[in-house]
Amino acid sequence: MRPVNFKKSVSSNKLNLISFISLLLISLIINGNAVAAEWTIIHAGKLLSVPGEPVLTEKSIVIKAGTIERIVDGYIKSTELGAVKPEDVSLIDLSDFFVLPGLIDMHTHLSLEITPRLRYEGVERSQAYRALRGARNAKRTLDVGITTVRNVGGGQEMLALRDAIAENLVIGPRVFAVGGGIGVTGGHMDTHGLLPEVTDLIARPEICDGVAECRHSARLLIRKGADHIKIATTGGVVSESGAGLNQQMFEDEIKAIVDTAHSMNRKVAAHAHGLDGINAALRAGVDSIEHGTFLDKESIRLFKRNDVYLVPTLLAPALLGAKMLGENSPLPLPQQKKARLAMTRAKTYARDAHKGNVKIAFGTDAGVFPHGMNTKEFRYLVEWAGMSPMEAIKTATVNAADLLGQSETLGTLSVGKYADLIAVNGDPLADVTELENVKFVMKEGVVYKNDNKSD
Ligand SMILES: [Zn+2]
Repeated sequence: MRPVNFKKSVSSNKLNLISFISLLLISLIINGNAVAAEWTIIHAGKLLSVPGEPVLTEKSIVIKAGTIERIVDGYIKSTELGAVKPEDVSLIDLSDFFVLPGLIDMHTHLSLEITPRLRYEGVERSQAYRALRGARNAKRTLDVGITTVRNVGGGQEMLALRDAIAENLVIGPRVFAVGGGIGVTGGHMDTHGLLPEVTDLIARPEICDGVAECRHSARLLIRKGADHIKIATTGGVVSESGAGLNQQMFEDEIKAIVDTAHSMNRKVAAHAHGLDGINAALRAGVDSIEHGTFLDKESIRLFKRNDVYLVPTLLAPALLGAKMLGENSPLPLPQQKKARLAMTRAKTYARDAHKGNVKIAFGTDAGVFPHGMNTKEFRYLVEWAGMSPMEAIKTATVNAADLLGQSETLGTLSVGKYADLIAVNGDPLADVTELENVKFVMKEGVVYKNDNKSD
């Protein structure tokens, strides 16, 4: 926004007030009701305030300025908040609902959509276009109950989208962004299939070879404003390369990135399918393995020894497996081969990890399939990974907040944390697919969805 050309006689105080009011108006126009009431009371019929602990009944959650101020027994009235005027309190009746913390998806690609022209994105679609596409997808994601994401793809556009959401210019989940993934030349994160001179123009600046370059890539991303660092230590299914799913980044390169990131207070998420690339990443000290398809007993030992999370992404193979492997597969042969390989382990690898007591956080890979289906991941955590519904819910709340390093503000409904909460009609602990039909979404005290009727 360009500064308005005010007369010099207007005092700076007035100017501030005018700018503030116009900003407020603009944000109201763009966002409708994105300003939280100062005080809100929610009557929760059933309340899972801390996933892993017993469900509570008939509680009132008192929210002040987007943060949980207290949780009390019974349904209190707006007149019962002491000095607060009742007309300043908004009351939300969720007494027929099951209320739980807002969900956290640790593996999204908000600005990505897989199209047949994916390899031309860099020359056909501007960062601005991708940011806008991401904004559309962000709203869809929040609408299904995901109130926070760790976005592990995209570039500069995702840093802009993160900031725009935080400033209420755009509706979406709270975003922690990597601002670009680090991979090796010709590897999973690189651009494939274009003339070398075109590739040189659009290749990611974070592509690196060798210890010095890889350190530089991590520092470059941190300078740009990355919250976390994402690397690819192995090949990936969707990259347009016949390089397979095995290790691509050497252990000294991984360690260089991990040490750099940790020295600057960033965690490292490693995309890894092949066993060699999983174990190299675990030995090098990454904080999470994304996918982890071919993990084995030694991996499980390393996960536990180094206190590393697995973020299995089961929905992508569940939704795309049949399509990718069918007779009319849209994928070129090398990708079909990789998809077929990954599918052989899709139903079992997370089960092995869970049985072996590896810590698991919720991630979906949304963007590889259409956005807004994220909560379907829960059924596969139960069916394929063998979790109880409670364990599955923990992955998307308590565990995800821990992996984000945000347990002080996210992951449970507790005093002092953000009022990020959702509600469903039935009991998700009896049937986890209840989470595929979220009726109420609040983020930081602001209501974004309220289908407040039982059915
Ligand atoms: Zn991914």
